[in-house]
Amino acid sequence: MSKIIVLMGAPGAGKGTQARLLQERLKLPQISTGDIFRALKDSQTPLAMEVREIMAQGRLVPDELTIRLVKERTSQDDCRNGYILDGFPRTPAQAESLESLATEQGNEIFPVLIDIPTEILEKRMTGRRNCPVCGEIYNVYFKPPKHDNVCDVHTDTQLAHRADDNPETVKARLITYEEQTRPLMNYYRSRGLLRTVDGNRDPEVIYKEIEAIVT
Ligand code: AMP
Repeated sequence: MSKIIVLMGAPGAGKGTQARLLQERLKLPQISTGDIFRALKDSQTPLAMEVREIMAQGRLVPDELTIRLVKERTSQDDCRNGYILDGFPRTPAQAESLESLATEQGNEIFPVLIDIPTEILEKRMTGRRNCPVCGEIYNVYFKPPKHDNVCDVHTDTQLAHRADDNPETVKARLITYEEQTRPLMNYYRSRGLLRTVDGNRDPEVIYKEIEAIVT
């Protein structure tokens, strides 16, 4: 049975960082719904414009669209031996759809909650920067690049700052998380599936713990 590793946690908890490490080391594709939606950033279709507006407000993209995109992506060949989900599911409807998807695909779900104190999430998000070339994630407070605002590897590339990592949208995203996504933890916990790791530690230490859970 192949595994669906589901990284859960508030925005800024470090799901993206762990998803990248898992992808690289376990050789499983990482599917980030946030990345899928961000890829629409240059598109001028009405749908893309609506998604951008929703993201700018820190709200969630409608379930129907989100679920459809995840179904499409996970039916591709590279997901045959399992995959990593980063940022999905975020609502009870999405969790239910993942359940049926897993059954259809003959996969097993491993939800891992990266737990982090709410007080530091804001800083984690507003300080976040990423390399547009390799996707490496930095943080001006917690993991600064060697040189100001450039990637350690791609030294001629300025780091990017996500449009929704501004203080106002960050606040809205945290409220959205509390209201719509946190209840999912109870859902997985009550079924004895949820494993929790302390996300307020070195990413490598967290990785080792997650790896031990999912392999
Ligand atoms: P993320 O990169 O996971 O923080 O996602 C960025 C934004 O994309 C979120 O604030 C939502 O607007 C949207 N988004 C990402 N994943 C989902 C999802 N599973 N359901 C609905 N909206 C999502």
